[in-house]
Amino acid sequence: MYRKQKSILLVLFVLATAILVGCSGDMKQREEPLVVETMRVEKPQPQQVVSAPQVSATKLLAHIQRLNFTRYTPAERSRTRNYITTELKKLGWKPKLEKFTDGVNIFAERQGTNKAGGAILVAAHYDTVFISPGADDNASGVAVVLEIARLLGSQPTPRTLQLAFFDREEAGLLGSKAFVTNKAHLQNLHGVIVMDMVGFTCYTAGCQKYPVGLPVTPPSDKGDFLAVVGDAEHLPLLSSFHNTQKSENLPPVLTLPIPLKGLLTPDVLRSDHAPFWYQGVGAVLVTDTANLRTPHYHQPSDVPGTIDRSFLTGAAQVVVNATVSLLETISPKS
Ligand SMILES: [Zn+2]
Repeated sequence: MYRKQKSILLVLFVLATAILVGCSGDMKQREEPLVVETMRVEKPQPQQVVSAPQVSATKLLAHIQRLNFTRYTPAERSRTRNYITTELKKLGWKPKLEKFTDGVNIFAERQGTNKAGGAILVAAHYDTVFISPGADDNASGVAVVLEIARLLGSQPTPRTLQLAFFDREEAGLLGSKAFVTNKAHLQNLHGVIVMDMVGFTCYTAGCQKYPVGLPVTPPSDKGDFLAVVGDAEHLPLLSSFHNTQKSENLPPVLTLPIPLKGLLTPDVLRSDHAPFWYQGVGAVLVTDTANLRTPHYHQPSDVPGTIDRSFLTGAAQVVVNATVSLLETISPKS
């Protein structure tokens, strides 16, 4: 997660608004006109029932252990790419290195069975800030993409599955910005799922930060939910995360529709989903809310021992379920 120095109040306000919405059992009873309208649109959409494969907690944690080093210098990032590409090749993928001025992205795809179906991209950044081994930020996201590569790499689906590992997110979203300048990447792209920090929980009262002075009823006084931030113009993508709650073991999911591509709320633009929004491509950010929850954000203490194994596994399963649902769906752009 990229740190921006602008006002945090705006993102808090959006989070507050979204939490109000997320906590509401019946959206039609809410008073906020914008959200009521948008949520109403997605309600009648039938969710496809698809069975998704089960993630492995052991494999997720193994990736995070193997990536337990700072991934900042060119040599460190090269070592990280070697790890990721080796893992992908073991799983039968053919990863490509995509160089840009300041770094190197990794891209891979598995074709769908329906050429008109388009592609779904799942992505995470692999770099860190210079003082942090980044277990949560963002080895956790990389581990989930690798687990999706394992589970869905050889499972035929109508839509194409694409994977990307972005470089230099921490320097200002440089990898994802470079990625979207290649128009070939955007053709036929029907949705993007970006993970940035998906492994941390807190369970002491008040540990999850919420806005001060706003009439918010938090989902709980703990930081045990997964946030999914999406642009309000692509609600079906966001709603693919709603019906993932098939098991009691999965964390609660808070979906946050953001209007106007975050124009009024720049703090929701702090990760690799944002460049896709500006290209008109639907994209969601899946996160544990970063510095609103974890004291280890961008610190040397962001180490594997702080990762909540159960939450990470549940978060990964939520993403796998949503990805399968999107890969099976053939519909207009979502
Ligand atoms: Zn970060």
